[in-house]
Amino acid sequence: MTITDAHVSTVKLPAVGAARPATLEARDISAWFGDHKVLDRVSLTMPAQKVSALIGPSGCGKSTFLRILNRMHELVGSASLAGQVLLDGDDIYDRGRRITHARREIGMVFQKPNPFPAMSIYDNVLAGLKMNGIKASRADKDDLVEECLTKGGLWKEVRDRLRQPGGALSGGQQQRLCIARSLAVRPRVLLMDEPCSALDPTSTRRIEQTIGELKDEVTIVIVTHNMQQAQRVSDQCAFFLAEQGTPGVIVEHGPTEVMFTNPQDSRTNDYVNGRF
Ligand code: ADP
Ligand code: MG
Repeated sequence: MTITDAHVSTVKLPAVGAARPATLEARDISAWFGDHKVLDRVSLTMPAQKVSALIGPSGCGKSTFLRILNRMHELVGSASLAGQVLLDGDDIYDRGRRITHARREIGMVFQKPNPFPAMSIYDNVLAGLKMNGIKASRADKDDLVEECLTKGGLWKEVRDRLRQPGGALSGGQQQRLCIARSLAVRPRVLLMDEPCSALDPTSTRRIEQTIGELKDEVTIVIVTHNMQQAQRVSDQCAFFLAEQGTPGVIVEHGPTEVMFTNPQDSRTNDYVNGRF
């Protein structure tokens, strides 16, 4: 797979309040790094207006799966994949569909908060617009910054210091800034890879609250090692496992309540009860 997406055309920002959460469907995804197969025919539907949690031990391919969902996997030189990813039915890997388009519609928040440290809070929120060639007036930008910081749960804390650098914020605030930044291009899906693992409990609860408030406007997929968090935030769960050097698979998926109270597979039962 080659990356031929240097050209970015000017696009208009969808209107405020134009929530368009989409259903993301992974079909028969297999993934390799060189000859090393790390996922084997993983299929999962992540419905609009729901939070899907991906759980499972380290190394079973959760982050790889997440990166395949927004075409970041192919940035690794040795990486290859098979299968389809459908965004409301459209394959994001179709020839002719741009990588930047997939990235804009499907945002990502990482474990380690990664705002641009020297850039102002204001410009951090808008960073994705520039990268996507999205033009907006000054007034629209001001509105967008307020809207996204409000949705990220950070507005009240930073409204009087929008010109300060993003790096001056605490870790939890930086992560909320990253959420605000990812929302600014109005994604339809937000992927979150252990977004609270580096944060204290108070910041974690704030982000969990934000996730609950966002799910009506953006489909959320979250990787978490925290089983209480999976239960608090998600509607459905998928349990990934890679046994004894075999590639990762989904052992079981279903409504979160069922996964935690009545799992069908003994390995799921062991994992959700901390016996792994
Ligand atoms: P998880 O997020 O569940 O901990 P990962 O998706 O990070 O799992 O990793 C799955 C497998 O892929 C692991 O065996 C890991 O070593 C391998 N892997 C991940 N990233 C790379 C990479 N960039 N190059 C080579 N192997 C990788
Ligand atoms: Mg990971």
